[in-house]
Amino acid sequence: MENIIYMDHAATTPVDLEVLEAMEPWLRGQFGNPSTLYSLGLMANAAIEEARAGIAERLGAKPEEIHFTSGGTESDNWAIKGVADAQQNKGKHLITSTIEHHAVLEPMEFLEKRGYEVTKVPVDSTGLVDPDDVRKAIRPDTVFISIMHANNEVGTIEPISEIGAIAREAGIVFHTDAVQTVGKLPMDVEALNVDLLSLSGHKFYGPKGIGALYIRNRVRVTPLMHGGAQERRRRAGTHNVPGIIGLAKALELATDRMPGESVRERALRDRLWEDLQERIPDIALNGHPTLRLDNTLNFRVEGIEGEAMILCLDMNLIGVSSGSACTTGSLEPSHVLLAMGIPAEQAHGSLRLTLGRSNTDLDIDYFLDTFPGVVSRLRDMSPVYNKPVA
Ligand code: PLP
Repeated sequence: MENIIYMDHAATTPVDLEVLEAMEPWLRGQFGNPSTLYSLGLMANAAIEEARAGIAERLGAKPEEIHFTSGGTESDNWAIKGVADAQQNKGKHLITSTIEHHAVLEPMEFLEKRGYEVTKVPVDSTGLVDPDDVRKAIRPDTVFISIMHANNEVGTIEPISEIGAIAREAGIVFHTDAVQTVGKLPMDVEALNVDLLSLSGHKFYGPKGIGALYIRNRVRVTPLMHGGAQERRRRAGTHNVPGIIGLAKALELATDRMPGESVRERALRDRLWEDLQERIPDIALNGHPTLRLDNTLNFRVEGIEGEAMILCLDMNLIGVSSGSACTTGSLEPSHVLLAMGIPAEQAHGSLRLTLGRSNTDLDIDYFLDTFPGVVSRLRDMSPVYNKPVA
């Protein structure tokens, strides 16, 4: 599938060649277990500590605050269940938003079935959480707040540092799922006012199956994984050494390339959207017009289904999504779009394009040449779209 035009970088990204090269020695010659006491293990241990320090530096954190996990889902689960368990004597009320990823919503529901109470704050029509709604949701027994940094479906960037300041003032532990923003936005846990932050390697040209959870010193979190004494006794399991090396390299490259790459992707995306609006009637943007990730374009196309568009684009060798990869296969409309007040039938007709390093002006031209034809063919067959041809 070398020739596919890939526009689904929020789902995953290919491993950067430099990342792969950095990982390779740790898969073969230097394969030691970092928990062993002889040179092969000691070398691996030194390498993961160097990786930890590099990641910490790029997040504005201290090395001992970075904990390696298997990815975004584990980091989110650990943050939520770990803090809820450690704080249960103080209270059992948790706050999140209606547009979180399932990796946050499902652990919240798991806890609800075990006696916790969860308040989900709403979002406006652009996907923004109002910090005042978070403030109003706080109760004497609130122990944890989790609001995502940017939404994976529409790209809206949330006012995390304001919400963090509210949480801090109230003495409540604050977590953000930054899986879609690490590597794309400048990252500083101090400026963001967060106590915990989840990240995942495969979203920024690192390998799949590796991520991290930043846990601010002195925040108590019960382990999710029990076993060996790895990660300062907080997360058991033999370290994924190649993954950790790859994660650190990927974050280094993404941070260095960020200023140029974000401007480049935004220019491509904005040209795409301007031209699409000229070429196709009855389409509308989903998400915030400006407070949005530079690579993300989510829009609804009246009268047709997102899945039909995806399949037709796939036949033209273009890879896009209708929502998060994890909900593909479900016929439910996106909970994010519904929470933004978009009617179910329009939510069904939405498409998400997320650009990345491989995309060029030629890809945008190809999409613009292909997509209007796809829309008009599908609309011709649509039982609900019967507007006269202009
Ligand atoms: N959180 C968000 C916002 C995501 O977009 C994703 C992946 O799509 C995840 C969590 C889960 O991350 P992972 O695939 O590393 O488990």
